[in-house]
Amino acid sequence: MLVMNDVQAGYGKVLALQGVSLTIHPGEIVTLIGANGAGKSTTLMAISGIVPCRSGEILVKGKAIHGLAPDRIVAMGVSQVPEGRRIFADLSVQENLDLGAFLRTDRAGIRQDLDFVFALFPILAKRRHQYGGTLSGGEQQMLAMSRALMARPQLLLLDEPSMGLAPLMIRQIFRIIKEINREHKTTIFLVEQNAHQALGIADRGYVIENGRIILSDRAESLLASPEVQKAYLGI
Ligand code: ATP
Repeated sequence: MLVMNDVQAGYGKVLALQGVSLTIHPGEIVTLIGANGAGKSTTLMAISGIVPCRSGEILVKGKAIHGLAPDRIVAMGVSQVPEGRRIFADLSVQENLDLGAFLRTDRAGIRQDLDFVFALFPILAKRRHQYGGTLSGGEQQMLAMSRALMARPQLLLLDEPSMGLAPLMIRQIFRIIKEINREHKTTIFLVEQNAHQALGIADRGYVIENGRIILSDRAESLLASPEVQKAYLGI
């Protein structure tokens, strides 16, 4: 589904990604864990075409996407839920969802996906005419995920979905990520500081440090790794 090959990317003189290589197979949940400033968000933004790739390559289903505009990358089946949700506070829940389907013209499919997200998150159906800005943090995360799903992505990029949420809401969000993966056959790339929860639902994981992948393995092996336990799980 996704291959990153020796990708370098950054901001001015800051080289945030210093040769990142990773692979995600169709149907997988893969997580990228790491400390603050390690390069997790930059990895997702390089895939989405928001931060330009300076060297290396990024392939989706075998096709090069580095250098394409972000809307072209969405059209190729890759949607991102950004850190901090970034929903449109002055638009209603329904309008936020409509924007997620902006590039689509298949009305029947859009209606089907609307039913799917309302089944996943019934609270959004109830709040459909409310302004996005009036939702709780957890509901805004649900809306941001639903907005991304309205593009019917094959690869969903999630940036710190648990950030700032209460433990009960975090459990619910992670349960639903698993459900999206299983029921909707969506491949998931999950960036998280909450390494324990992320590895708990992932098939495989990568660990990033200072813009470089330092470890990759099956999620259960990473959970059992003394190095990961000490640095990221507080054990
Ligand atoms: P966090 O969990 O804090 O979001 P992260 O692992 O997602 O961390 P990035 O946000 O990708 O890390 O940041 C990687 C590096 O790039 C850091 O050194 C950060 O300071 C730097 N950086 C990120 N965004 C910018 C920016 N807009 N301008 C300049 N430097 C930036």
